[in-house]
Amino acid sequence: MSLRLYNSLTRRVEDFQPLDPGRPTMYVCGPTVYNYVHIGNARPYVVFGLLAALLRRRHGAVRYARNVTDVDDKINAAAAAQGVPISTITDRYVAAFREDMAVLGVPAPDVEPTATGHIAQIVVMIGRLIDTGHAYAAEGHVLFSVASFEGYGKLSRRDPDDMLAGARVEVAPYKRDPGDFVLWKPSTGDLPGWDSPWGYGRPGWHIECSAMAEAHLGETIDIHAGGVDLQFPHHENEIAQSECAHGGKPFARYWLHNGMLTFAGAKMSKSLGNIEKIHDLVRAHPPEALRYALLSAHYRQPLEWSDDLIESSVRTLDRLYGTLRDSDVFRALGVLRGHGDPEPQDAAMPGEIEEALDDDLNTPKALAALASIASRARQLRNRLANAADSAQPLQSGIEELANLTAQMRAGGAALGLLQQDPGAWFARGTSEDDDARIQALIEERVAAKRARDFARADAIRDRLAAEGVLLEDTAQGVRWKRT
Ligand code: AMP
Ligand code: ZN
Repeated sequence: MSLRLYNSLTRRVEDFQPLDPGRPTMYVCGPTVYNYVHIGNARPYVVFGLLAALLRRRHGAVRYARNVTDVDDKINAAAAAQGVPISTITDRYVAAFREDMAVLGVPAPDVEPTATGHIAQIVVMIGRLIDTGHAYAAEGHVLFSVASFEGYGKLSRRDPDDMLAGARVEVAPYKRDPGDFVLWKPSTGDLPGWDSPWGYGRPGWHIECSAMAEAHLGETIDIHAGGVDLQFPHHENEIAQSECAHGGKPFARYWLHNGMLTFAGAKMSKSLGNIEKIHDLVRAHPPEALRYALLSAHYRQPLEWSDDLIESSVRTLDRLYGTLRDSDVFRALGVLRGHGDPEPQDAAMPGEIEEALDDDLNTPKALAALASIASRARQLRNRLANAADSAQPLQSGIEELANLTAQMRAGGAALGLLQQDPGAWFARGTSEDDDARIQALIEERVAAKRARDFARADAIRDRLAAEGVLLEDTAQGVRWKRT
């Protein structure tokens, strides 16, 4: 079995062969922490977190770095707007980000470096780029000279004019070439800053990833990943910085890019305002269903986010957990009737699921394989149940059923799904957290009614009714009770 990945650098699906088969390395561009992240931001972390887990399984170890961008003009603006120190913003939202990732079942990376924790390495790398003629200082800034790197544009394969348009660079007078990008810029007043050979200032965005990848993973790394929106200019610039700082050594051998999550037809993005924050979504929906929804499309394809997608993911998980629960009950009944309880299987990973993941992380195919194992389990259970009416269920049938549910669990584990107790999945109508979720759905319904989206309002009422939650419109607002 061998993993094949689509490499954006070569535009081909390639066999993945790490430099050190005992420990592949992977770097994923992390979030800029100035607000709650949206569900689109979660896509790379869910998908590439799944890849990290797969590599760990296959190779025994992996070194996975996912950074935190904690110095950025958007952070400065948020701190100024709220009248708080910058660290208040970054501390708050890095904690929120980690919490959001944990509830979505995203494994923590092996290293989570911060830009502010690597200013020394950034300064050294910039110094090296100046010494080798790839960067120059001008008016308190340091700029990377794109003309100095022949390979510039090899990842995004744009011609220089397009690159300029894509980068939306302001043509500052101190730039030798309009495409040159900032490595270091001056800081004044309340802005965060550090002393450097080029004056008091702060790093530009791109250099941090080059410096942190080098510090934690070495000069040449196996996999570099992030959203396709980062391909240009961010990743193109990372390549330029790293390869020039390392005497031309390749920076990343496999470049992976996830497609964009869209919402109401456009890329979900803070600047457009068409976002759904994970922080809010997990209060209204089971987080596992959000994860399922993110894995329901191939990672390189666009994925349109919608209420229907969430609802159908909830229903699919209801069916899968229902199969696990019913099979367990059936097994228990078999035991009561004197059949031996089959030893819990040593979770054999279903071959179809491994093959699907090997095929450039084809999660829709893996989910279809999971559904087909579940369907086999349901059919078998029904057959055994019918047989049980007239005679005792067959021991071998019970064993086969136990084997199928063990496969569902093992396949689910590879996808970060189906690891709860079925009872816990179905009991989501009884915990305190669930009260908050119901309240959030009620508020969403009120907002939908206000926006005259009655179809959505009715869908929410029906969904709650199906869970046994009845809504009552009163003069004081909406009351609810469990039936
Ligand atoms: P940012 O904090 O904007 O740099 O985004 C963090 C990560 O989320 C990057 O890997 C982006 O490529 C990714 N990302 C941002 N918006 C979307 C989206 N709508 N769909 C999928 N990935 C996204
Ligand atoms: Zn980056």
